[in-house]
Amino acid sequence: MEPLLRVSDVSKRFKVRGGHVSAVDDVSFYVQAGDTVGIVGESGSGKSTLARLVLRLIEPDTGEVVFDGKNVAEARGAGLKELRRGMQMVFQDPYSSVNPRMPIGGNIGFPMKVQGFGKREIRDRTADLLDQVGLHPNHASYYPHQLSGGQLQRVNIARALTMEPKLVVCDEPLSALDKSIQAQVLNLLRDLRERLGLTYLFISHDLNVVEYFSDHVLVVYLGHVVESCPAKDLYREPLHPYTKVLLSAIPSVDPDTRTEAQALGGEPPSPLDPPSGCRFRTRCPLAMDICAREKPALREAATGHSVACHLFEERV
Ligand code: SF4
Repeated sequence: MEPLLRVSDVSKRFKVRGGHVSAVDDVSFYVQAGDTVGIVGESGSGKSTLARLVLRLIEPDTGEVVFDGKNVAEARGAGLKELRRGMQMVFQDPYSSVNPRMPIGGNIGFPMKVQGFGKREIRDRTADLLDQVGLHPNHASYYPHQLSGGQLQRVNIARALTMEPKLVVCDEPLSALDKSIQAQVLNLLRDLRERLGLTYLFISHDLNVVEYFSDHVLVVYLGHVVESCPAKDLYREPLHPYTKVLLSAIPSVDPDTRTEAQALGGEPPSPLDPPSGCRFRTRCPLAMDICAREKPALREAATGHSVACHLFEERV
């Protein structure tokens, strides 16, 4: 079955003072309709750039993004409008994602207004969306400063749903919220997925959240996908040394299985001058000579489980 989203060999470099930064380097993955794919990595790993490439908020240098059978880069006019309806985004910061001078109803209704919906249709649909995200229709008359961070993130989710998108890209949607609110918003996203048959690309630095919410996980480091597998396999049998370090930092609830957290060794490399070969080698406790010479390719080491590490090449 053709996936809803296919990203093939996508790379993006940015010009900065002193050279270029390779934010995303040769990344490929796909998302089947109805699935959630989680992308996890530290800040600066290229996760958000990847999200913007998918939504065509920025253009890739190489590679292609195909959404719903259409090449995103080739969409023009009405085709581009249709594509934008089909893919929506929930941003990290609920406060800066809304217009503070516009009531909540206006913020949610704005995309419908742009698409030419009538006043009554906008009002009815806004009331329905507020209800779907657990707010009261009366909230339409409130201003953003009268709502809490959690309520505002619900408003952002409602706005992302106005055009009945097939794909919702969530870029760190919980990280600006209090811990107690994070679980509520995560449960809302999960309920909406079940009720509306949504497909998510879910970006987070939090492995726990990604594992709970995703069907499949990509682990990224300095613009490279270093591991790609079903979410349940990531905890059961992580392969890449970077994934193992990330997982060791999460305390187990069971004291008998709790292990010592491993610290990432070495300084994070400069993206302006990334290490040769494997980009993780300057911080990897298992680095070998070959790791400085050759970039490890992402290869399948077990069914559906791929890793980019020379340690696993004999298993391929
Ligand atoms: Fe470590 Fe080498 Fe594997 Fe990179 S390729 S993760 S440096 S063992």
